Amino acid sequence: MSFELKQIASGIWSGSFSSFPSDVASHGLSGRLGGVSEAPYDSLNLALHVGDEPEAVIVNRRRYLTALGLDAARLVTPEQVHGEAIARVTARDASRGALSYDDAIAATDALITDEEDLPLLLCFADCTPILFLDPVRRAVGIAHGGWKGTVRRIAAKTVRRMQDEFGSRVEDILVGIGPSIGPCCYEVGAEVAEQFRAAFPGHERELFTEPQPGHTHLSLWAANTIQLEEAGIPREHIDCASVCTACNHAIFYSYRADGGRTGRMAAVIALKKQS
Ligand SMILES: [Zn+2]
Repeated sequence: MSFELKQIASGIWSGSFSSFPSDVASHGLSGRLGGVSEAPYDSLNLALHVGDEPEAVIVNRRRYLTALGLDAARLVTPEQVHGEAIARVTARDASRGALSYDDAIAATDALITDEEDLPLLLCFADCTPILFLDPVRRAVGIAHGGWKGTVRRIAAKTVRRMQDEFGSRVEDILVGIGPSIGPCCYEVGAEVAEQFRAAFPGHERELFTEPQPGHTHLSLWAANTIQLEEAGIPREHIDCASVCTACNHAIFYSYRADGGRTGRMAAVIALKKQS
């Protein structure tokens, strides 16, 4: 079980989880290299809502999804609002948000589907991408775990929704936690720390470090892992990339390290047609 970052097309780097069977689904976590966007969005910005030229984003999306073997024209993406709404999407939703932010799935922070050839795409720059794959019931999902989504347990709620919608069993679901801001760089204030203490009692040592007195750092990787285990996902099915986007902001977008105005990476997953 490991996370690997490799060049999948000319200049384009993408991360993947070795635990996700490639005959069932295609997936990837993009980096920032190999696209056409200008600074401060340089260069593989995959988000339409951050002020970049839409034409550049559409070229980037086409480049990245083609490199993954997917059709960018069919991708489905939501308007992410740091909430906890989860949408099940079907073939009827194909292309929503692909060319315009206006028809993206409204106010939603996780997508799930059992539809084949329907790429799900969510955008990130420090927030935690959480990918789901049930190879038995053949279903996939992606959740957006910023601190708000994480403390509201969006990852655990996505698992529950896959159980309800697809009959997924927790012992079958594979989970990948992608590159995002690490405990090395994620300093939080007292109010945020307090919410995590209340939401995850007894996990102080996994959640928090104090590199300097008075400076509390939070691990979103730990908070997501804890809630997934509590939801019943076996520990050995949770693959955490443990790659910090702020430490590595030359190859990833980092909202914090780039000073707020920057592009977005994408997490993408699509079920393959059964052969
Ligand atoms: Zn870091």
